[in-house]
Amino acid sequence: MVQFGEKWGGIMQNNSIAYFSAEFGLDESLPIYSGGLGILAGDHVKAAADLNIPLTGVGIFYGKGYFQQRIDESGSQHHLYPQVDLEASVYPVQLVRDDNGRPIIIEVPLQGRKVYAKAWSVQVGSVTLYLLNTDVESNSDADRHLTDTLYPGAQDIRISQEILLGIGGTRLLTTLGIRPEVWHMNEGHCAFLTLERIRMLSAEGLSFETALEAVKASTVFTTHTPVPAGHDVFSIDMMDRYFGDYYWQLGADRDRVLSLGSMNGVFNMTRLAVSTSSKVNGVSKLHGEVTREMFHRWMPHIPVRDIPVDSVTNGIHTGTWLGADLKELFDRYLPSDWTLQTAEPEVWAAVRDIPGTELWEEHQQAKLKMLQAFGLPLPPSDRMPLIIGFARRFATYKRALLIFSDPERIARILGNPDRPVVLVFAGKAHPADGPGQDLIRQIVELSQDNRFKDRVFMIENYAMDKAKLLVQGVDVWLNTPLKPMEASGTSGQKAALNGVLNCSVLDGWWVEGYNGRNGWAIESTMDGDTELQAKQDTEALYRLLEEEIIPLFYKQGDQKVPMEWVNVMKESICSLAPVYNTQRMVTDYWHKMYVPTSARGKRFAADNLEVASRVAAYKHFIRDNWSGVQVRKVDIIEDNSCRIGLNKKAFRAEIELGAIWHKDVLVEAVGSDGHRGLWKVTLKAIKQQTKGLYIYEGTSSDIPVDNIWKADVNVRVTPISPDFASDFELELAAWG
Ligand SMILES: *Cc1c(COP(=O)(O)O)cnc(C)c1O
Repeated sequence: MVQFGEKWGGIMQNNSIAYFSAEFGLDESLPIYSGGLGILAGDHVKAAADLNIPLTGVGIFYGKGYFQQRIDESGSQHHLYPQVDLEASVYPVQLVRDDNGRPIIIEVPLQGRKVYAKAWSVQVGSVTLYLLNTDVESNSDADRHLTDTLYPGAQDIRISQEILLGIGGTRLLTTLGIRPEVWHMNEGHCAFLTLERIRMLSAEGLSFETALEAVKASTVFTTHTPVPAGHDVFSIDMMDRYFGDYYWQLGADRDRVLSLGSMNGVFNMTRLAVSTSSKVNGVSKLHGEVTREMFHRWMPHIPVRDIPVDSVTNGIHTGTWLGADLKELFDRYLPSDWTLQTAEPEVWAAVRDIPGTELWEEHQQAKLKMLQAFGLPLPPSDRMPLIIGFARRFATYKRALLIFSDPERIARILGNPDRPVVLVFAGKAHPADGPGQDLIRQIVELSQDNRFKDRVFMIENYAMDKAKLLVQGVDVWLNTPLKPMEASGTSGQKAALNGVLNCSVLDGWWVEGYNGRNGWAIESTMDGDTELQAKQDTEALYRLLEEEIIPLFYKQGDQKVPMEWVNVMKESICSLAPVYNTQRMVTDYWHKMYVPTSARGKRFAADNLEVASRVAAYKHFIRDNWSGVQVRKVDIIEDNSCRIGLNKKAFRAEIELGAIWHKDVLVEAVGSDGHRGLWKVTLKAIKQQTKGLYIYEGTSSDIPVDNIWKADVNVRVTPISPDFASDFELELAAWG
């Protein structure tokens, strides 16, 4: 295994990455997560510890945690909030104290009053996770409850929590003497941290714009939200109430500060995060594309292709999610250090050598364990039914009820006495999500329906413990989100690791993971018509169940083991386990995000922030003069010109740059390739016609289109700088 801290010691010092997240799912005994986002953050922290990456986590200690779910006979969800029992936590949780043994207390401003928070620390191997909580004696009663619950419905409590996380978290790190080189914002909830860092630099005498550049250079942002409606937003009025006395402390006026996040009349935390970071990534390749399309709406003059959003596909922490019995089997057949090399495909290839009967037998044990743990009926015969699991948050886009779209048909599929199929559901709906709770109610009703007796079950209080039992114990993991709403999804990755086969809509990670042999894909056209999509997905799902999944499962060999099925299990493990794990994921973050950003942050900060102030001044100059930039004239120069050469296309443009220097812009001829792509040809300034008016020319021999008409060619002028993280950092472009 690569030991990052040692190998890269020269690049990173201790505690060099600060990882902020509103939720962390480390273990069910510490209920400070609600779903995939938190589990991902928890797995990220664990992998960083495994890889010896110098990372510090920052989050909130929700005193009552995410709720415990009870479902009554009628299917209504009830919310219980027992106090979190720290003694029960498998991770040591401690109050953070100063050298004199006094608890460290930090202070944040909330609407003109001071609110105090204590810090707790959770040790995950070498990584420390700090968690803030406002249950402090010096706070008012109401403020003591600010951090009680996760994702409160009330906007005032939500913004207070986000101020505590971003501003308070930054203050805590400062108090502890931790000076991160890279600040990683996991989703937009924590993005106020960038404002606090600007404030701190401003207090040292730096201008707002220079401070912004320094902060941006050292910050990365991971977005998880594929739809605009999912973004965290606050009204401008609310921003004024909470930040009225804070704006000026950043060294800028209110409008400039608000401009970092204002969009469509509200303050958008994703917009703030994008404005204040130098690298942005989505959590799967498809989600990266979807995010580019979404951000394109904010920057319509920049083509989707060019929007600077990368992707790092999510993974899961193998040590957390692999069943104990299967781990023993892997210990016997895989190379001895396999747990340190989970991102190596060759290591997993040894799964093919495991005798099919043994792999099958271990899975039967996991299945039995799950049935017993949930009190589900044990099969009368020695052959267990095909069990399909569906468990995740009950958000409506995940379409838990899709499989019941045609109740008669699914009843026939499940009810066949020769080939019984059982559906097991689990999941919580957010306390404020009425439609999500309705889904739970309907599933409970279906489970009581005679047609589905002993075929459909709803398991209460889905959390990490239940998730483990399910992803280890069912046969098929079903996922039917409305494409492209599932940014990544990770529960299917946990299932795959355990030899459970995915049957999923080709959304999120599954588009990348599915290879035609390692599970099943529910394919449909995606054209924005949600009803049509549901219809197609349902039909595809039923067809897969009837024609492929059920027949394969019940196709027994001599030893009563469905060997073909077992081979798909092996293919699924071999092809998916090495890729969709957090060792691979955090290594990707390391190379793509952390190392370059650490270098960038240091370069911007060196010599009294020389580069940061230069970039700030440069951006200021460009913004002030951009309105004078104009593409005056575009020509395609004919092929027969001997200067150009055979089969080449040549372009000439006349461009007014005003006060801007010709080397500070990138000029390109841009056209569509007739599919979804663009071709681009860079043009160079060949002469200055009159002051500020330039002639640009360029040729290319590899434009993938035969006949180019003038109307199809656009010339784009973009302000650039070797100090920019991307050519579109200024979000400016002039077209002609
Ligand atoms: C893994 C996990 C999730 C995420 O599931 P998705 O399939 O990504 O929606 C949610 N909740 C729990 C408890 C989990 O373990």
